[in-house]
This record gives sequence, C-alpha cells and structure tokens, in this order.
Amino acid sequence: MAQGIPETVMMNTALIKELADVAKDAALLQGVLMRIQETPNSSELVTYAPFTLFPTPVPKAVFVQSLSVQTHYNTLVDKISQDTDFLQEALASTIAVDDFTARLFRIHQQILKEGRSQHIVLGLNRSDYMLDQREDETSSLKQIEINTFAASFGGLSSRMPDVHRNILKVAGRLEESQRILDNNPADGLARAVAKAWELYGRERAAVMFLVEESQRNIFDQRYIETELWKRDIPTIRRRFDDVCKTGSLSQDKRLFVDGQEVAVVYYRNGYMPQNYISEQTWDARLLMERSLAVKCPDISTHLAGTKKVQQVLARPGVLERFFPNQPQVVEQIRATFAGLYTLDMGPEGDKTVAMALAAPDRFVLKPQREGGGNNIYGSEICQVLEGVKESTERMAYILMDKIHPTPVQNYLLRRDAALKISSCLSELGVFGAYVRKGSDMVMNECVGHLLRTKSSEHSDGGVAAGVAVLDNPLLI
Ligand code: ADP
Ligand code: MG
Repeated sequence: MAQGIPETVMMNTALIKELADVAKDAALLQGVLMRIQETPNSSELVTYAPFTLFPTPVPKAVFVQSLSVQTHYNTLVDKISQDTDFLQEALASTIAVDDFTARLFRIHQQILKEGRSQHIVLGLNRSDYMLDQREDETSSLKQIEINTFAASFGGLSSRMPDVHRNILKVAGRLEESQRILDNNPADGLARAVAKAWELYGRERAAVMFLVEESQRNIFDQRYIETELWKRDIPTIRRRFDDVCKTGSLSQDKRLFVDGQEVAVVYYRNGYMPQNYISEQTWDARLLMERSLAVKCPDISTHLAGTKKVQQVLARPGVLERFFPNQPQVVEQIRATFAGLYTLDMGPEGDKTVAMALAAPDRFVLKPQREGGGNNIYGSEICQVLEGVKESTERMAYILMDKIHPTPVQNYLLRRDAALKISSCLSELGVFGAYVRKGSDMVMNECVGHLLRTKSSEHSDGGVAAGVAVLDNPLLI
C-alpha cells in the first residue's frame, strides 16, 4: 500500500503478535475503553474498545475536502430543521408507511402548534463518508449518511491518535507515527454543549445525558462529561424511565428531573423504535421536547437527519432552496452526494425499482432506520423489492448507489478474537457542532474526525454492533 505500512511489517508474524500486545495496553492506558458485554452497567470489569492495529491510509485531498464541507453541512441541517414545509413534503411518503417516523413527526407538529419554547439550538452531528475508488485509482468522497442524533465515538476517537503513535514507534515506524493527526472531537462537542448551557443561563441547571438501558459505551460519553466538569457544569445521566417517573415541567416550562432543573438534554438514546418501550416513553420524549431545555437534537433536527431527507436533498434544485445565492456552497455539498433514488409511488419510483432489480449489486436498499444492521444488499434487494414493489410499503425505503472503497489489509483487535489479517473497508466520519440563538449562529465548527474500519466480509454495522473498529487516518 502506497505510503502506508509496508508488507515487511504487515507479514512479520512475530512482530505483529508483539505489537498486538503493546497495542492493547496502549489502548487501555489511553482510555480507549468499553464495558464488557456481560456487565454493561458496571465499570468493575472493562476492556479496550475494538480498534485496528495500524492506521489506514486516506488520501489527503479527500480528507481535507471532508473537513471543509462540514460547516456547510451544519448550516444545511439547521436550515432544514427550520423549514416546516420542506420537512412535511419530504417526509410525507415515509410517514404514510413508517409508524416510527410518523410518530416523531406528530411530536414535531405538536411542538409547532404550541410554538417552540426554546430558541437556543444545539446541533452535534457526524457526517459519514466512504471513498469511491475506481480502477484508475481516483478517490471520490461520498456521503453515506449524516447522523444528527446521538452521533457517537467523538470521545474515544479523541484518544486514538496516541494509541497508533505508540504502536508505530514500537514497530520502528517513527515517520508514520509522526503523520498521525491530532484529533479531539470531545473538546469541540463539549464546547458546543457548554455554550448552549451558558446561553440557557442558570448556573445550577444541569446537562442531562439521556442514556440507554445498557451502557457499554459509557466511556465515550464520559469524555464529553469530563470536559463539562472542567467548566464546572453539572451533569446528570438519566434513562427514559427516570424521566417518565420524575420528569415535570414548571409553569414556565422549565424541565425538572429528580428535582433537578435541566438546561440541556443530550440524547444518546431514542433513535430506534425499540428505545420507546411504552406509551410513557413517548410521553417522556414529548415532555422534553415541549420544555424550555435545549434539546440536542430537537425534534425537527432529528427529522432533518432522516435518510428520506438525504434522498430528497439529492434531487436537482433542492440544495439551492437552502443556499439560494451560494452556488459554490451548493457545489461543495453536492460533490459529496452519491446517487440516491426515490421509491415513492409513480413513474420515478417505478424506474428505481426496475433499475435495482436489473443490477442489485450496484445498490444498497435502506429502510428509514438508524443504528446499523438494517440495510439490504445484493440478491436480498430483489427479494424485498419483489414483495413490496406494487404497494406503498416500498415508500419506507430509499435506494442508494453502492460505494466501492479499495480494501486495505489490517489486523482488527477485539477482545477474545483471534489475531489474523483481514481485508478491510473504512468509513470516515466528520463531527460538526453548532449553536444558534434565534437568528444568530454563535458557533459553527468542524470539531474532529472518526475513522472506523471493518472486515470487508461485513456489508453493514458499526462499532457498537461489534462489526467496525476504531482507527486513525494516515494521510497519503
Ligand atoms: P445506519 O443509520 O444504520 O448507520 P448507514 O446508512 O450508515 O445506516 O449504513 C450502515 C452501514 O452500511 C454503513 O456504515 C456502511 O458500512 C454501509 N453502507 C451504507 N450505505 C452504503 C453505500 N451506499 N455503499 C456501501 N456501503 C454502505
Ligand atoms: Mg451509519
């Protein structure tokens, strides 16, 4: 691999074994941690979060491109969230057939009817990309999706640069070790949360992390909490159930949980249907949305991050709606779009069905879901589409061009897994953070990156799903 880790290192079994031991200790020392599956709610026994033995080569030009488009993506997400008509139109077909999105949309409508109580907006997102790499060795950056809800690994990825630096030094690769970039999304994400907290303006009010039942990935969140503690900002961690039982609004709509006023609700849970186990859970979401607390994200920003919105944005003329006098911004964003196709009823959707059935390997079929493991590939696309193509059920999906990165050899280190070389694919994420007060953007930044790598035998799935592992880019 050009300017990556040489074959002589990659194939030296004794060295690899030694480096793997060093690597695991380096990860533990740096705090790249996860709780273990057996005891996800206890920190008595923890392990390293899975990661690659070596960093992965990434062409510098596309890396720079991904960072430089991020503030525009922040602006775009924010503008979409404010455009009620656009959201309504874009999501109409999805809502008609997808109960979960419909339910979220109903909350959105209720908030609009009552009038938004809070004009401070806090957006923390992560735009994910893969490189489309062709035989002529050109690489083009293509967005996989943008996560506006609970975008994770900003904490752990902040600790990854030193892990690979250490491994490379032990491997005698000083030059490569010096090429590992600094990265600190935890700091930038926390700065935005702190800004929103400050604008809320009550010293005793807390930032509430709305967390999952099972908290294996707690350390990723703790890095952001730690940054808030440094600034003397109180934090609490609560589940939906806690909000159900003890949440209330004061007369002026201030949110109280366990008697504690909440300035910011930072959702790290609530993006999947199974997160809402009862009607009370939905009530708790609505309570938080109606409150004066700053929501990260608020319901309209949550909806702006849907895959259906992503597909609609790729239609001709749509980006121009959000950037009417900024053709260069439109161009910069559009350059990162892969082909995205509607499955709505009508001739255009029919054309998409025919195209997918004729060449399923060229596409990915995506239902309106988040969190990994939901996408459909290859012959299964035909099975699913044959079943739904005549009915409105097909509107619950979008179709996307499949991106083809060139596989790279690496070793994936995870607890109890055998050490073996794998053919790997990577996905680059870029973190964005913004804070708006009324019409005033008070912060809009690109705050760092995340490289995740998985064995090429898996077509889907993230780090939390046990498929992808943490990595660092090695710019070439
Ligand atoms: P989720 O919300 O479940 O994370 P994604 O759109 O990010 O949904 O897809 C999940 C995974 O599927 C991605 O991390 C990537 O590995 C793979 N994937 C998604 N879209 C594509 C695509 N267009 N081409 C190739 N792989 C894709
Ligand atoms: Mg994803």
